[in-house]
Amino acid sequence: MKVLSVASEVFPLIKTGGLADVAGALPAALEPFDISVTTFVPGYRQVMQQLKKATELYRFSDLFGVPARLLSASRHGLDLIVLDCPILFDRDGGPYGDDTGQDWPDNWRRFAAFSFAAAECAQGRAGDYRADLIHVHDWQAAMTPAYLRYAMTDPLPSVITIHNIAFQGQFAASVFGELRMPPNAMNMDGIEYYGGVGFLKAGLQAASAITTVSPTYAQEIRQPEFGMGLEGLINARAADVYGIVNGIDTEVWNPRTDPHLRCTYKPSSLKRRRENRVAVEERFGIDHDDGLLLCVVSRLSWQKGLDILADALDGIVALGCKLVVLGSGDNQIEQAFVAATERHPGRIGIVTGYDEPLSHLMQGGADALLVPSRFEPCGLTQLYGLRYGCIPIVARTGGLSDTVIDHNHAAAISGVATGFQFSPLTPEALIHAVRRAITTFRDDKVWSSMQRRGMRSDVSWARSAEGYARLFQSLLQDRT
Ligand code: ADP
Repeated sequence: MKVLSVASEVFPLIKTGGLADVAGALPAALEPFDISVTTFVPGYRQVMQQLKKATELYRFSDLFGVPARLLSASRHGLDLIVLDCPILFDRDGGPYGDDTGQDWPDNWRRFAAFSFAAAECAQGRAGDYRADLIHVHDWQAAMTPAYLRYAMTDPLPSVITIHNIAFQGQFAASVFGELRMPPNAMNMDGIEYYGGVGFLKAGLQAASAITTVSPTYAQEIRQPEFGMGLEGLINARAADVYGIVNGIDTEVWNPRTDPHLRCTYKPSSLKRRRENRVAVEERFGIDHDDGLLLCVVSRLSWQKGLDILADALDGIVALGCKLVVLGSGDNQIEQAFVAATERHPGRIGIVTGYDEPLSHLMQGGADALLVPSRFEPCGLTQLYGLRYGCIPIVARTGGLSDTVIDHNHAAAISGVATGFQFSPLTPEALIHAVRRAITTFRDDKVWSSMQRRGMRSDVSWARSAEGYARLFQSLLQDRT
């Protein structure tokens, strides 16, 4: 089966979030299922600079008013088709905005053109490539199934994956005339969205199936609290909505070989983690005592619920715990943590900024990881925590509730728990969860068997790929 994966980011070529990881990891993970994935990406400056050898596949003389080319190339084990269109994509800054973080004002044109070109390519109308099925990611690629829907009488099967429904690609109705859509597309069953146009909405309406990155998030987005305006549509399409949990790169995240650790270890040598713990404490200026060492590695944002954690800090320290935080983002949240480090020297430490090596060391040294998210489509840090024996303490939401088994009564008796969940998201419930963790931590046998269970659980891409492969195969069967 030939699948065209349409993604505005793909690791390691270009990445701002988890979508890049999924788009980058799935092609190799799908190979064993006889699925050959070609990834369709924008020719951002960063992408073009990394292409060594590329073959021209097709020329558009007028792609939304500008010339463009499709280039075929292979890089980092990925088969790529790159939309080379310098006017739209050769810019300073990131994929979606300038260096100050301001969105490009023509994002609607950039990603409509991108999706249009992908739809032409998938149908075999732009060069000699033709797909059996398309898999598109998030709002930037969501118009691809919409273009196919209006261009073909029997459109190719298509899957759209939602990585975070908070980002929807909503634009003014005035752009509709330039989207090269038939007039009948501007209605509630098409692309119209609250009086404007909605790219994600159009894709959700047009795709054969909808996936998101965990089963719980797939349910949650049917409610107004999580669906962000799209809950009605998700409910209407509930029979076609699937939740498939993301995997992680188990080579990069491997405590047996991780070069960022002071001391590597495996499930049978957990005591070696102590040296990493000391290294973390030294780095953050934290006391070396027996208190439970908690860590946070996160964007400092409302979504991540770190304002709730900030309100719980005094209570957590009163329990005898220590906390180290690595993160960047919201200034107010950062200031709340900085103030707490001053109130509790030696008990709370913070490093601001993005530091990949330090994030590995923290997972390899801290006793537990706190993830108090308000919503979490899948979440990666708790999967790293499982793999590193850094017990996750997580809010019961989205992918967090699907990937961490709470140490409740039944799980404890059956010996299956891998962490702690809490709900509702309040400082009190969070402190209560930490108290439960401390009680367990004091029983070294129970704690270390929970660590080993997490470390041995399957968090690889293989399982997720099977979910996607089954879905792709069933959609193709439906067609024949
Ligand atoms: P999201 O994509 O919503 O930010 P995830 O948990 O899915 O949350 O993924 C976050 C990724 O970014 C993880 O790999 C995490 O380790 C990493 N990360 C977040 N903040 C930092 C930071 N300050 N330094 C290093 N890595 C970070």
